[in-house]
Amino acid sequence: MPFTLAALPYAQDALEPVISAKTLSYHYGKHHKGYVDKLNERVAETRYAAMKLEEIVVKTAGSADKSDIFNNAAQVWNHDFYWNSLSPKGGGEPPGDLGRKIEKQFGSYEEFLDEFAKAGIGCFGSGWAWLVESRGVLKITKTANAENPLSEKQGKTLLALDVWEHAYYLDYQNKRDDYLKTVLNKLLNWDFARMNLSETTKRRSVHVEI
Ligand code: ZN
Repeated sequence: MPFTLAALPYAQDALEPVISAKTLSYHYGKHHKGYVDKLNERVAETRYAAMKLEEIVVKTAGSADKSDIFNNAAQVWNHDFYWNSLSPKGGGEPPGDLGRKIEKQFGSYEEFLDEFAKAGIGCFGSGWAWLVESRGVLKITKTANAENPLSEKQGKTLLALDVWEHAYYLDYQNKRDDYLKTVLNKLLNWDFARMNLSETTKRRSVHVEI
């Protein structure tokens, strides 16, 4: 099997009480694993089996006849990115250059959080909210379903927030805004964002020790 389920960067109960161990066990162990398993099935004996995940996402984006491969590949990438975007020691205003950049561009850290939450709340149905950097400018974006900043050429991805119902329904039910605001305040992994910001190559690995 060319693709494997990357290990979670923390224990399944490490994000409690913001995200429960039960949510993580389903989200990681069933949903994320399901995308990996389906991707392996779909790419078996195709040229995609030898490609890196990012390459599959870029090459299949927008191709109607490859949507099944795209959706599963992108969701594997998105979830790898999401787990690393959260940390039990996360949250708070990032110090240093990144903090100054956020204040300069969004007005204040609070306005940044507000805009990020609004992007997630504003996704109609399933999707993702992202912090990206394009030509030196930080941007908050949102994508539908499995789409991501790679497929939509939005720039360098710094942070991901999953706003599919499976990410929050067990803990927050229909209150997506509560989920987003709590995660934004308590779990954002600024070390990961800073590392992504400093990356110069397109092929970075998100499977890092944090
Ligand atoms: Zn998810």
